[in-house]
Amino acid sequence: MTNSAVEFEEKMRILVTSFAEKLPAKINEIELMWNQLQVERDTDTLEALHRQVHGLTGSGKTFGFPELSIVARELEQLLKGMVQNNSSADEQLTDQIQQRISALKIASKESRTDISQKMIQSPIADNLVTVFTNDSRLIFVVDDDEEAAEELVLQLSYYGYEVEAFNQLDTFRAAINKMPNAIVLIGVEFHEDKLAGIKVMREIQKDREHPVQVIFISAYDNLNYRLGAVRVGGSAYFTKPINSSELIDHLDSITLQQEQESYRVLIVDDSSAVLGYHAAVLEQAGMTVKKVLKPMEVMETLLEFDPDIILMDIYMPECSGIELAKVIRQLNNFVSIPIVYLSSENDFNTQLEAMSLGGDDFLVKPIDPHQLVSAVTMRVRRTRLLRSFMVRDGLTSLFNHTSIKEQLGREVVRSARLNTPLSFAMIDIDFFKKVNDTYGHSAGDRVIKSMSRLLKQRLRGTDIIGRYGGEEFAVILMDTDAPSAAKVIDEIRHVFSRLLHLSENEEFSVTFSCGIADLSHFPDEKSISEAADKALYQAKKKGRNQVVINSDSGGED
Ligand code: GH3
Ligand code: MG
Ligand code: MG
Repeated sequence: MTNSAVEFEEKMRILVTSFAEKLPAKINEIELMWNQLQVERDTDTLEALHRQVHGLTGSGKTFGFPELSIVARELEQLLKGMVQNNSSADEQLTDQIQQRISALKIASKESRTDISQKMIQSPIADNLVTVFTNDSRLIFVVDDDEEAAEELVLQLSYYGYEVEAFNQLDTFRAAINKMPNAIVLIGVEFHEDKLAGIKVMREIQKDREHPVQVIFISAYDNLNYRLGAVRVGGSAYFTKPINSSELIDHLDSITLQQEQESYRVLIVDDSSAVLGYHAAVLEQAGMTVKKVLKPMEVMETLLEFDPDIILMDIYMPECSGIELAKVIRQLNNFVSIPIVYLSSENDFNTQLEAMSLGGDDFLVKPIDPHQLVSAVTMRVRRTRLLRSFMVRDGLTSLFNHTSIKEQLGREVVRSARLNTPLSFAMIDIDFFKKVNDTYGHSAGDRVIKSMSRLLKQRLRGTDIIGRYGGEEFAVILMDTDAPSAAKVIDEIRHVFSRLLHLSENEEFSVTFSCGIADLSHFPDEKSISEAADKALYQAKKKGRNQVVINSDSGGED
């Protein structure tokens, strides 16, 4: 078992133990509330009692106490009738309720004795953490059309990939068995067989613990081919003529680990035990989790944490999960955030109501950990993809102009509040028009892409990089003052100026200029961005290929 699996089991052990320890007190409280209701009918107490019992049905099952959960469920149904009809209990109902409360006490004592076998078998296997990254930069291009293969090799090598071409399946097969880490770019159809590419990959993938990364290319776009490709692990399918910038994007997404930010999950649940459990499951799968125990505190956390998805309990004191979802949906920034209810509610009508009021899905507690992880993964992946179409630039997949401006606004406010430094850098490629005129527009595009890849490689994961305009870039550097930012960008400037770009038959190099301003001199979004722009202008005026800091608080420079 790996360390994280051991840690996970330890965490689970603590959660279950603490749940079991608190059970008698909880049941005591249930009994107290019930006794109080006998003396005086009071809607608030009745509702609180119902909620408390409802909580037990979910958490009981989650922590492996099924008997407790069954009794709690029966009791919950009885109480629910009272809540809905706003009625008091007759003699028969009182009897039934008292019986269940006694049964709860017994079930809780019984469960305490056999905690050990229950939860501890961690349902989480190490393989839950599926990260589709590959640090290999070696690519095998397999195609019996020699010319097409050569063209691909050339294109890919422009982007710093090491590429080897194979025109015959036999030599390819031998090579991949020696170097299974290479990323395979293979045609579907070959002279000998229309599906030879898929067949050879099926054979290669067989019995392999870590599948070979494979991308298919084909002259045909048909579902049969695509299905075949997916079934042997194809992560993408490109039709000829290949859009090389899309292909590079896909390769980069496989090879550049830093692009994969961990999923941010916000969980709202008034039961700290259940909250802890779900959080532990998701954290084990590599996600970042923020726990909110009090629904009224969700707002500040939302803005600060900016989650990819919200998991929401339904029954909570102060306000229900359904109401909270409605409120969240009215906030501009969260109109499309997925909200998934996690509840022990098994009443179909409530589920329907929850969904019609802004929820995306409904998972019934207890949820199998694998199911929880895959439900969250699927939704976040889809939402991130959709969102990326709106906020990312197509050529570089950096943030687009609108998005980087929005983020600058947000980060400036945050840094001002936390009193931490922040720098804003504007970068503009020098004499770029000449690059286009001399070497062609597609060579120009490749320069833009190299610039973007260099920024991604050299900057920290916390820095926010955008394509501001054609050959202009913007970077927000968190926790960094202007001199430190200038140092980092100047190193990048140096590396960039030495990169060799290839056109049809010539190599050439390009430089950039950069202007930087920081929050300590320019304390709001408008002034910091104008100041960076001014500094960039200075850098151009002073002869380009340099980084200039604007430290002149607001005045002329
Ligand atoms: P300076 O050093 O003063 O920045 O000179 P420059 O030629 O880089 O400045 P200018 O801003 O006048 O020219 C930028 C050129 O970039 C104009 C436009 O044709 C080109 N461009 C803008 N977007 C793209 C793009 O996506 N791809 C390519 N290939 N060229 C682009
Ligand atoms: Mg320029
Ligand atoms: Mg420009």
